[in-house]
Amino acid sequence: MSKKKKKSIDVIIVGGGIAGCVLAFHLSNANLKVKVFERRSRKNVGHDWCDSIEKEAFSYAGIPPPKGKERKKDRNHLAILSPNLESIVHLKYYNYWIVDRKLFQERLYELAEKAGAEFQFETEIIEPMGRGQWVVGVKKKDGSIEDARLIIDCSGKERILTKNIEILDLNVNLDKEDYIKAHRELHKISDGNLDWQNHEISKKVLYYRYGYEKGFSWLNFEDDNHLDIGAGVGKGFSDRSPKAIVNDFVNSRNNIDNDKVRGGGGEIIIRRPTTMVWYGFLAVGEAACQVIPTTGCGVGSAMIAAKIAAEVTVESLLKKEVSIDSLWEYQVRYIKERGRNHAALDMMRRLFLRFDEEEISYLVKKEILTKQDFENIIHAKYTRIGLLRILLTAFKGISRIKLMLKVGKAIMKSNRIFAHYKKMPKKYNSKRYHEWLLGQLHLFEKIEEK
Ligand SMILES: Cc1cc2nc3c(=O)[nH]c(=O)nc-3n(C[C@H](O)[C@H](O)[C@H](O)COP(=O)(O)OP(=O)(O)OC[C@H]3O[C@@H](n4cnc5c(N)ncnc54)[C@H](O)[C@@H]3O)c2cc1C
Repeated sequence: MSKKKKKSIDVIIVGGGIAGCVLAFHLSNANLKVKVFERRSRKNVGHDWCDSIEKEAFSYAGIPPPKGKERKKDRNHLAILSPNLESIVHLKYYNYWIVDRKLFQERLYELAEKAGAEFQFETEIIEPMGRGQWVVGVKKKDGSIEDARLIIDCSGKERILTKNIEILDLNVNLDKEDYIKAHRELHKISDGNLDWQNHEISKKVLYYRYGYEKGFSWLNFEDDNHLDIGAGVGKGFSDRSPKAIVNDFVNSRNNIDNDKVRGGGGEIIIRRPTTMVWYGFLAVGEAACQVIPTTGCGVGSAMIAAKIAAEVTVESLLKKEVSIDSLWEYQVRYIKERGRNHAALDMMRRLFLRFDEEEISYLVKKEILTKQDFENIIHAKYTRIGLLRILLTAFKGISRIKLMLKVGKAIMKSNRIFAHYKKMPKKYNSKRYHEWLLGQLHLFEKIEEK
């Protein structure tokens, strides 16, 4: 009697968070056999709070937009406060939805499972398995090994496979400048007004205090009675923990209930992307350092990158060709879509980490940091800044020549990195890519030297 042969796995995905689920959904829809290993239990995946997610990411990634309980009140008014809380910039555009991450995560599981993906929860992967230069499988914590035609790292900030592939900059050692520590809590508010120094907090506005403690803090009414209070601080640049910033705000106001409704925190990788492909291997989402460097928002990029990665994977597997030459298309498309903007914003962020709060407050007050700059910072867009703008900027801050020189330098370096990313090789060529990578490292190294 002939036994039916078990179909071998086409794609292994490590990490069943945002990127892992979007990938699993699209790859399974393309009739590939997909297995996802997630170290947590199903109910423990996803944040126990609401996050801001770019609206465009849903349409790009082919995921139906959030609705009902999954989506909180829309915001189209942002108030950006200077670190000293004296100046305020109003933006009437916020291209994000505020989304319940638990409900969204569960919806992603349902979509991926319906498409045919198989999830194994409470299964921790400890390293990739290689054959020659190829990645061919993964090792589980219990020592067993699973193979597939393609292996994808979606393990978020753990980067469990990527950090163990000692090639190019995949296993780059991340340092303190590459992280932000973030914390957010939802609290019930009783009657009475709330203010932030002299600014009365409106229930219709999302407030950002930008540049505070080498990061940012925020306030947003999720509904009439609940306030989301959050903070992110540059790791190693501020002695204060983001949790302490949130707690201080809570304790200083009588009409905020001391007990949080939900919330939590953690570290986020906020640097420019690393190399995202190797032989038989891709990294997607925070594992490939795709979070917006100036906001810490990583869900939208993870969704967009997952969609691109899925398209390239399907094409490559159809051709039976999963070498770096074929998978390179993913890196090229992602860098064009988002990566080069993130790289320029990362350069800008690193240079601004070296400004003090008084200097940033001055730049906001004098409108040297403009509305357009803040719109770009929040929406992860980088527009090359021309000479005329640099001169006008210098004129506005004529009394602070040294500071203006620092601003000019930051603009020029960010322009340069943006231009460098535009020149990333469109086809994989080991020598040319190494040269490009070294050029990139060199441009970033220079700021750390100063
Ligand atoms: C306090 C805080 C607030 C944030 N706010 C926002 C926000 O408002 N908007 C926004 O866009 N982003 C926000 N982020 C960032 C965002 O959560 C991440 O960038 C995003 O989830 C990245 O998606 P991902 O799929 O790459 O990784 P994740 O969603 O983190 O998924 C990775 C998964 O891999 C699993 N995993 C890890 N290691 C292993 C292993 N060895 N074996 C098996 N599984 C493993 C993890 O358990 C996890 O489920 C915030 C982060 C924090 C900490």
